[in-house]
Amino acid sequence: MISPADVQVVVLMGGLGTRLKEYTKECPKSLVDVCGRPFFDHQLDLLTAWGFHKFLFLIGYRADMIEDHYGDGRDRNISIQYSYDGEKLLGTGGAVRRAYDLLEDDFLLIYGDSFMDIDYAETIYRYERGKSRGARALMTVLRNNNRFDKSNVVMREGKIVLYDKHEPTPEMEYIDYGVCMYEKSLFSAFGEDEAFDISVIQHDLSVKGQMTAQIVTKRFYEIGSPASYKEFSGYVTRRFEESHPAVFLDRDGVINSIVWNDDIDQLDSPMKVSEFEFLPGAASAIKTFKEKGYYVFIVTNQPGAAKGKTDLATLYDINTYMISSLAGEGAEIDDLFMCPHYTKELPMTKESFLIRECNCRKPKPGLIYRAMRKYSIDMSRSYMIGDSCTDMAAGAAAGLRTVFIGDLKCDLCKKLGEEMPMFIAKDIVDAASSVEDVR
Ligand SMILES: [Mg+2]
Repeated sequence: MISPADVQVVVLMGGLGTRLKEYTKECPKSLVDVCGRPFFDHQLDLLTAWGFHKFLFLIGYRADMIEDHYGDGRDRNISIQYSYDGEKLLGTGGAVRRAYDLLEDDFLLIYGDSFMDIDYAETIYRYERGKSRGARALMTVLRNNNRFDKSNVVMREGKIVLYDKHEPTPEMEYIDYGVCMYEKSLFSAFGEDEAFDISVIQHDLSVKGQMTAQIVTKRFYEIGSPASYKEFSGYVTRRFEESHPAVFLDRDGVINSIVWNDDIDQLDSPMKVSEFEFLPGAASAIKTFKEKGYYVFIVTNQPGAAKGKTDLATLYDINTYMISSLAGEGAEIDDLFMCPHYTKELPMTKESFLIRECNCRKPKPGLIYRAMRKYSIDMSRSYMIGDSCTDMAAGAAAGLRTVFIGDLKCDLCKKLGEEMPMFIAKDIVDAASSVEDVR
């Protein structure tokens, strides 16, 4: 299993940014100042936090300014190479083709003027899995329904069956999100100085069924117009400059019910999307937390794939289903952090890369720390809410106030020892009505 450290990130940075004239003036779009830092610095932080460190920047307009600012990446402990667009406008595909000799066999491609906060480990996992089944690329897609721009992707049973950005059809409910992975060899069919849009390759792969999908649930930000620039600045201010409290929610037994698993004859987490059932009031409770001024993060142990009861793709599918269903009811989850690991290999284990001693499996507080690195959180006013001892222990280790959901029986009290919860709530609805309003 490859990791972000093995994957080259290619960034399209050649754009002129004509609609943003009052901000760009003499400056390439990727360097436009957002809250005191160049736009792309915000995206680069996200990527380096995932562990990416090999970058190739495709530059054109004011290339000198980008090189001056990022250099060879040494200051950031990453490596950056450059490819120059040249005089002729080549389009997105042509710019990538021009960098052919610098491309690795497989690479991730993003735009230098978009902020895309997704699970990049999922991207790489799905790409590799797709390749083993004959795919040659991956496209991230967002259920759009023409919210942001014209939808351009038809999905059937989780698969891309058509991508066409020129001829929209009513069947198109998804939009391409802007993060893709490709096999380098896809570009060899084009001439060195040939101008073409990358959508040519994407369309071709979609009709051949050779493009894997990753459904993402979080909107992207871009700075293509003064209005979107302002919107992103507001987002950056709230997320990085101000500090807000959070509720960290365990998933199973808090948001959804635990289900009977026939294979092991006991209650367990859902192992298929069809087994996932919301507990009563979960969406409205999440809305209440948000209205009271909290971030809502989900921190969940899901060792089901490591134990061979399901696969990692299905675990991702279940989370995607949960987050989009909640969003459909107006309950926006700010982020989800999942530990898919388990400490020892079992007879049924297939995805053995998930077996490891990690720092993220609760009762360790690693998932909470990951959220702290991504957001500016007022920890002293934040809560960990869960239905097991491991949740209470993880919350206590991170210095959070802890809320236990359910009946606290005496045998459990003994187990909790030092980590007795500060509060007990009947369910998530009770917890949401009890926390103070922090706005
Ligand atoms: Mg639980």
